[in-house]
Amino acid sequence: MLNINRDVCGYCGACVAVCPEGALELIDAYLSVEGDCIGCGICARACPLGALEVVHED
Ligand code: SF4
Ligand code: SF4
Repeated sequence: MLNINRDVCGYCGACVAVCPEGALELIDAYLSVEGDCIGCGICARACPLGALEVVHED
């Protein structure tokens, strides 16, 4: 799953643009992630503020 640190996120939209699954959406000042997320980590690498982290569960 994808953890979003909303205290760090600057709502720039960079992660939304790079997600291959279209799983991220920026609504006003709220970044949401949907079930379509496959945990690829592309968004986390694209985030300039390090606000995203992919956490793999057992
Ligand atoms: S981890 Fe991959 S699939 Fe999930 S939101 Fe980020 S870019 Fe999209
Ligand atoms: S790239 Fe990072 S700072 Fe920009 S909207 Fe996504 S999580 Fe927030």
